Amino acid sequence: QTDVLIVGAGEAGLGVATELRDLAFGGHIMVIGGEPYLPYQRPPLSKGFLEGKEDEDNLALRAPAFLDEHDIEVLQGRRVVSVDLADEGGTATLDDGTTVQFEKLAFATGARARELPVPGASLAGVYSLRTIEDAKQVRSALVDTARLVVVGGGFIGLEVAAASRRRGLEVSVLEATPRLLGRVCAPPLSDHLMTRHAAAGIEIRLDTSVVELMGDVDGQVTHVRLADGTTIPADVVIVGVGALPNVELAEKAGLECGRGIVVDEAGRTSIDGVVAVGDCAEQPHPNLPGQRLTIESVNNALEQSKLAAHVLAGVETPRRGVAWFWSDQADLKIQIAGISDGYDAYVVRAESARLTVLYFQQDRLIAADVVNNPRDFMAVKRALGEGRGVDPDRADDLSLSLKELLQ
Ligand code: FAD
Repeated sequence: QTDVLIVGAGEAGLGVATELRDLAFGGHIMVIGGEPYLPYQRPPLSKGFLEGKEDEDNLALRAPAFLDEHDIEVLQGRRVVSVDLADEGGTATLDDGTTVQFEKLAFATGARARELPVPGASLAGVYSLRTIEDAKQVRSALVDTARLVVVGGGFIGLEVAAASRRRGLEVSVLEATPRLLGRVCAPPLSDHLMTRHAAAGIEIRLDTSVVELMGDVDGQVTHVRLADGTTIPADVVIVGVGALPNVELAEKAGLECGRGIVVDEAGRTSIDGVVAVGDCAEQPHPNLPGQRLTIESVNNALEQSKLAAHVLAGVETPRRGVAWFWSDQADLKIQIAGISDGYDAYVVRAESARLTVLYFQQDRLIAADVVNNPRDFMAVKRALGEGRGVDPDRADDLSLSLKELLQ
């Protein structure tokens, strides 16, 4: 009998296991991961790994020795195909037919890349980027490539575009909405990124929907056809149009699911003794009462797994830290503190290549997007953690540093 079974060996799954040990939890912990790798970091896959600066060996989240020392059993390359929940605990069935009896369960099944719903999406030369396998394929496909088309102007799409442009490729980014990162930030950051990426030689087309990927007789992608009928040539197409939380297993086990597995602030699902953490979990919205959201970030995976481990260990949960996120796009370092979704006003502080966008909800500071200004990022992150803010009417005063203004 396993005391805690964790399904999914990513940032969140491993986070639950290590946090349980930090809490001196002495029971048997088993983490089952569908990929044939020890738990690894995904962020470098669209950054340093793609540029050839980082290798597979640098990606591991923890060394095998750490897992041994902490007595965390990781079963790699095995998928859980069904979960039967009993009054207390339950049984998981694996893809090789074996079963694991558990007392408590954590879903940390992550998300998968959303596919482009157009004809030709499965041609050779069309990739998405979620796993090491994807990244290896993309990296070798880019070696002899002249023209890359990236579909989607979100974080992953822009990171891939920037890294590939640095490698000397001709790069186009096609974004269906009127601006980059439209779902997650205010227009000033979208405009700033647009200007900077264009200056680096990346062609960005907004309001541009892809209706078909076209290939040659060998089934290799050659062109992308747009809604206005034009076609643009492509040797490789990378699709970055969002992620879908992996909820099917939890749904079949009877857990309440929306876009993700529905959880409370501490990761408790609709069933006692079962938690869900990371990209697969849908949590209460911090700014919009009654609404819920999924968050795809390393920080969220770690914060949620910390709280959920407290729940599993039966100890009081600590206060959650301030949400944060980063994205590296060539020489642009984007850092985000807090959650801006739900803002009703924003204030911009801009100085040459630096940009800080402060988000407010009813005059209360809730978040900041920062480009190439780690000091502003740190100042806002700290202030949010301490419940401090800034008067929106004074927030654009560049004669004072943001740190001085935050009180
Ligand atoms: P995952 O990392 O997806 O892990 C879930 C694991 O569960 C997977 O290995 C999956 O195979 C396994 N699994 C699923 N179902 C089963 C099953 N039934 N049985 C067994 N195993 C199963 N975040 C940032 O904060 N900053 C960044 O710069 C950044 N860059 C990113 C770049 C890329 C290319 C990607 C893909 C993500 C990036 N992220 C970034 C997001 C961040 O990596 C994720 O939020 C984080 O990895 C989520 O961790 P997770 O453990 O919830 O899910």
